[in-house]
Order: sequence, then structure tokens, then C-alpha cells
Amino acid sequence: MEELRELVSGLKEWLRYQRRLGWRGLPRGVAAAPAEGGQQEERVLTLEEIRAELGKCQRCKLYPGATNLVFGEGAADARLMFIGEAPGAEEDLQGRPFVGAAGQLLNSLLSKLGLHREEVYITNVVKSRPPDNREPEPEEIAACFPFLEKQIKVIRPRVIVTMGRVATQALLGSKAPLTRLRGQWQKYGSIRVMPTFHPSYLLRFPRERHKTWADMQQVMEYLTAHEED
Ligand code: URA
Repeated sequence: MEELRELVSGLKEWLRYQRRLGWRGLPRGVAAAPAEGGQQEERVLTLEEIRAELGKCQRCKLYPGATNLVFGEGAADARLMFIGEAPGAEEDLQGRPFVGAAGQLLNSLLSKLGLHREEVYITNVVKSRPPDNREPEPEEIAACFPFLEKQIKVIRPRVIVTMGRVATQALLGSKAPLTRLRGQWQKYGSIRVMPTFHPSYLLRFPRERHKTWADMQQVMEYLTAHEED
């Protein structure tokens, strides 16, 4: 028993060391080995394949008004994933998520937490810009949601932070108000979800920022305590 304990503790130390060197776990999105009997198990796609499947998306009525589809960006094996609502004007122009004013605030939050954009993954529930910054409609969310699900399946983050009511309700399949869900751990399958305010809301109500800061402290504490997962 003692030997086994030592072995496990040695293995944990080695994993911690590998992580410090930048190792991020086994590669994901690789083809599953054929199951016995020659049957192919369901294959996890890569992010590139999911993007290719979206193509020049015309699955909902947003496509004629959108310049670029905003798929998402960041590490394909991120432990932390952020999900917003839908691209705004700047995101639509650049084809990148959170690069406008709300994105600046998100960047500043990340840097205060000691995180870089490249090590997390950032995306939206809806990948095409709704006109006049209106909220995405239920059919638009429904058309895009399978692609978000696929992104999550590839990335397998330890924690998802949903920003704002639309992203939170869509991911959790809940109609509960954000005020009730915010700051409370939720689950998407086996993945922990922390709902928080949308950065656009925090730009309008800076006095609420401390709440998102507190939510992110919970997230960081969890990630630190589960570094080896
Ligand atoms: N708001 C969002 O929800 N997503 C973006 O990418 C930008 C602003």
C-alpha cells in the first residue's frame, strides 16, 4: 500500500513537472481506433473540421447581414473556455470574438488573472452577427448550438464561463434569470460552468465588476486545485 502511495505521488509530481514545461495532456481530436470487429467508434472532430462543416453558413436568417462568421479562437486544449452571446460590429469585421470594447474589458480581466488569450478558448453561442446588436433569436441559437456543442466536445475544458444571460441560458437549457445563476457553479454534462456578467454589461455598470471578479476567483481556485485533471 505504501509503495503504491509513493508511486502515485511520484506520478503526480512528474505530471506537475511536465505541465510546468508546457505539456497540456494527450492530443485531442484524434481519430478513435477502430473498435473490435472493425467498427469505427464515433470520431471526435478537430476544430478545423467543425469550422469547415460550418462553411459559408446559411442555416439561419443572420447570414445576409454578416461579413464574417466568428467561429472562436484560442487553445484547442484550453482548460478554461469563455462563451459570449454573438459577434458585434468589430467582431463581424475581423472574424474574431471579443475584439471590440467588450473584448478590451475581457482582455483586461484575463491579464489581471494572469491569463493570456491564447491559453483559453473564446467563442459565442451564435457565430454570425445579429443586426443592430439585437439579441439572437431562439431559432438562430438553435441553428448554431450544435456547433458550440462540438467545439466543447473537442476542447473538453475543465471550466466554462458563460458571459451574460443569453449564453448562460442557452448552454444550461435554463430559463432562470442570470441574477439567480451568476456566481453559482452549474454543470454542462460533466463540465463545471460558472455564469457571470457579460463584459458589455460591465462596461455600462462598472460598479458590478467586483462580482465578476469574485466569480473568476472561484474559477481560478477550482482550476488551481485541479491542476492535474
Ligand atoms: N459580445 C459578444 O457576446 N461576443 C462578442 O464576440 C463580442 C461582443
